[in-house]
Parts: sequence; C-alpha cells; structure tokens
Amino acid sequence: MKVYYSPRYEVTLPGHIWPTSKYRLIADRLAASPRAADIEIVEPIEASWDDLALVHTPEYLDKLRSGALTPEDIATLELPWRAEFAPAFLLMAGGTCAAAAAALHDGQAAHLGGGLHHAFAGHGEGFCPVNDVAVAIRTMQSARRIRRAAVIDCDVHHGNGTAMIFERDPDVFTFSIHQQHNYPLFKPRSDLDIGLEDGAADARYLEALRGALPRVMESAPELVVYVAGADPFEGDQLGGLRLTKAGLAERDRLVVDAVRGAGVPLVVTLAGGYAADVQDTVDIQTTTVETLLKA
Ligand SMILES: [Zn+2]
Repeated sequence: MKVYYSPRYEVTLPGHIWPTSKYRLIADRLAASPRAADIEIVEPIEASWDDLALVHTPEYLDKLRSGALTPEDIATLELPWRAEFAPAFLLMAGGTCAAAAAALHDGQAAHLGGGLHHAFAGHGEGFCPVNDVAVAIRTMQSARRIRRAAVIDCDVHHGNGTAMIFERDPDVFTFSIHQQHNYPLFKPRSDLDIGLEDGAADARYLEALRGALPRVMESAPELVVYVAGADPFEGDQLGGLRLTKAGLAERDRLVVDAVRGAGVPLVVTLAGGYAADVQDTVDIQTTTVETLLKA
C-alpha cells in the first residue's frame, strides 16, 4: 500500500499545540513495524495553485501566495503563520491528492498528513490553511476519475470547512461525527452530522458510527476520504469524547470494513491529535494505517 509522507510536514511552530513531529514519528513507527514490507512510503509533490483554485477563491489564494494574510486572517487560522509555510501546506494538499489517486488505482492508500477540514473556500481556520480533503476530491472529479465521493470525518471537531465547501454539491456526501460542544462554534450542516455529548466514550460513539456508516455508503461514492483524527482520545488536550485506544481502533475497523465491504476505494488522512504525550497520538494513528493493511 502506498503511504504518502514528507519530512517537510514538520514545520516549526514554537509553543503551538500541534505536534508536527507526529508525521515523522508515525512514518518511523511504520517503517519499523512487522508490516513494513507491505508499505511503500512515497514523497508527494506540491499541489498546484490551479489545483487549490478548484476549491479556494482567487482572493484567498492571492493572499496565501503573496504572504498578505491580515492579522485577523492569522488569528482565525490560529497558527503563527509565516509566508514560508505555504509550500509545506501545498505539499500536504498534494499528498492527499496523490493518495486519493493511488486509492483509485490500488483500492486504498494512506496519507500521513492532511485532514485540514476547517479550511473554507475563502479563508483558513483552526490550523487549516487549505482544505486538502476538498482539493483531492475536486482534482479527482476534474480529471474525470470519479463523479461521486464521500467524506467520513471522525475528528473530534466538526468538519465545518468541508461541509460548507460541498454544501450545495449533491455528488459529495459529507459526514461528520464530533463533539457537539467543541470548536468550531459555527457548524454548517454536513449531509449527516452526529454531534455527541461531552464524555460520550466508546460504546456510545461506536453505536452512533455503526448506525451512520450505511447511510454514507448508500450515497454510492466512488471514493471515500476518511478524516481519521486522533483527538476523540481520552488523553487529548482539545477533545472531550473520552474514547480509549481500543475504541479508536474499533472505530477504524468499522470505517474500513464499511468502505471495503461496499467495494469503494478508501484514502485515509490523519487530521487532529493533541494527546499530552505525542506517543499516544502516534500509537493511535499508526494503528489507523495498520488497520488498512489487514485483509
Ligand atoms: Zn480536531
């Protein structure tokens, strides 16, 4: 299975809660795992500005390209933004595009990055300068590789940017299962939203997910993008759903089984993960990738 990753994802964010080291740590963990022979690590190339323009507005892309984000833009983005970061995020968008193309060819692929679901067409938000999930779907549609797609967003935070981008598109089914009383405050409607109560924990979460997955697959997608955030974890600093690692592994199995059972290509992106100990996030997200390798 192709696994897309670049050491350039490890942008330096002093004092920020986003552990950009996790990408390297997960890649290292996979390389040392008993399943290493089943994985081919591939370094992506940057998405083009034209690719991004399939999703984002020209005004916003001009700002990103020229380093002209305003202090308000940067406050909404919640990153200590510097113009030099732009190539890393173009690369991350390219990683999801390449992984989506590989999934269409091979049946499945993973991206050790991406899942930047809070980016809207016209602005970045919540650590997400560009919406790689939407860019990957739009580039595959634009190349006529697919018409229909679905997003299964299991990050603890609602997939607001993705929901809004595809709001009026009947060909893309968006599903988000998240903590209701958490960021973002404004949650535009996905095709299917499940906003769980604080501390929902494994049984409640898995029951809700199990009930929702058939509805996602009924939308007859030709590609599914799984936004596999690790932040529903009980040790996460930004999440409050209190899932265990075993619960998260079962979550991954449910998603993989539902998509694979329907014979639909599956691409995984990592999205959030802010455990107090980064090794917990690495454990959870390595397991997600390894779940794909199981027959
Ligand atoms: Zn999140």
